[in-house]
Amino acid sequence: MQEQTRSIVQLSLDALMQDSTFISDLEGETRQKAFTSLAAILSTPNKIHKSFLRIPLEDGQVVRIPAFRVHHNDALGPYKGGIRFHESVNEEEVVNLAFLMTLKNALHGVPFGGGKGGIVLNPRARTTKELNLISKKYVQYFADVIGPDKDIPAPDVGSGEREMDWMMAEYKSIKPGLPYRGSFTGKSVLNGGSLGRREATGKGVYFTYRYMMHDYVNKHREDLVSINNPFAQTALQASNRSLKIAVQGFGNVGSVTALEAFQCPMLPNKVVAVSDRNITLFNENGLDIPSLVEFSAKNKGELPSSRHALTESGVRAELLDRDEVLTLDVDVLMLAALEDQVHSGNMEKIKASILVEGANAPVTAEADEFLNKKGTIIIPDILANAGGVIVSYFEWLQGRETQFYSEDQIFVKLFNKMQHTMDTILPQYFGDPHSLRQNCYIHSVMKLSTILYKQGKLY
Ligand code: NAD
Repeated sequence: MQEQTRSIVQLSLDALMQDSTFISDLEGETRQKAFTSLAAILSTPNKIHKSFLRIPLEDGQVVRIPAFRVHHNDALGPYKGGIRFHESVNEEEVVNLAFLMTLKNALHGVPFGGGKGGIVLNPRARTTKELNLISKKYVQYFADVIGPDKDIPAPDVGSGEREMDWMMAEYKSIKPGLPYRGSFTGKSVLNGGSLGRREATGKGVYFTYRYMMHDYVNKHREDLVSINNPFAQTALQASNRSLKIAVQGFGNVGSVTALEAFQCPMLPNKVVAVSDRNITLFNENGLDIPSLVEFSAKNKGELPSSRHALTESGVRAELLDRDEVLTLDVDVLMLAALEDQVHSGNMEKIKASILVEGANAPVTAEADEFLNKKGTIIIPDILANAGGVIVSYFEWLQGRETQFYSEDQIFVKLFNKMQHTMDTILPQYFGDPHSLRQNCYIHSVMKLSTILYKQGKLY
């Protein structure tokens, strides 16, 4: 996974190295050495913090739970990234996710570096009291390396507002006097969280798709028709017709993305499939997403996974196997679950011509290459799922200013920022043969390289 990120960064550096207009005062051997330094700096984390949290469980047993906090790069500002609560968390995954945060923040002009955390546990198997203790212990173990101007964690898979509230409160008691509101983002609004933060990632994911397929394609139609570019062809073929959408994952990101698609007045979408860890639900005439959101809110975030539960939800759908969502006959596949979902084993069966990465790294390197060669548009994670970190930045700012924005103001600011990034990247993407991921990486790497050069870090 990390190899994939590293190799795309290396390709980006190679392209920039050849472009003599980029940091033009670096020439010859000095240029070569500076780019070698850049590769070394960007492909390794600044620091990996690891601990084993000692947790007395409610049944009297004491366990030691592995926990990580990775600081990838802070050239652009304090480290920033979520804390994942999941049984499959491992060091390599956390390092890669921190790396992606560095690139994501650079891409969208968010003044933060890249960090990430993880705790190896299945939160559904732990009681509330145990989760509270685990969250507090995480802060106790890492209190010296996190903080409002050092490293600002946020929620990720398996964690949410509740955990951020607990963690912020623990940080406040360990480090009295510091501006504690800025120590964590993704908190509840009552505790200094931002309006719109919970929906921000899902709304942003849908926005990137809608902006490309509606606003951008319609505005630049003539240019796109006249150029010979496979991705432009795909976008044109999919524009202005009813598109069938499947969404994998129905948690914080997936449920909001599905609802946005369902409600969108600009595109004649039909959300025909959604899935979660248990099941895929399918209806070729379109699913009743609001009822599914309501059902999952009342049922610990789960979709109805039996005939009985479907009847209870009032939703008409076929029950399919969990992974069938990926290979259904749809136009658009929105991935909002976990890593490595589209891979060499299923890439040839993917029928969608547009993939949107709500999750981080849901498409493996091999599948990415295969699908790009086919002209499939893949809106990559660092572009599509940045809504969370952008609104986290607004939350951090609001905590500092103790001035709070309305939900409407938040979404206007969020979409403006994402639109600005899309307008920077899309003309390049539709004009050259590189993937959208590669184009995004080049932009991020350009930003990071310039900053590192100006900070004198390449000698
Ligand atoms: P979540 O825990 O709220 O939801 C995860 C969803 O995926 C659940 O519906 C779960 O049932 C489902 N799922 C788990 N395993 C699955 C499987 N094998 N097949 C199908 N579905 C499966 O998590 P989330 O916050 O929605 O995050 C989802 C993804 O988005 C993660 O990759 C995360 O890193 C990324 N992300 C989240 C945010 C955020 O703000 N929450 C921001 C950026 C990126």
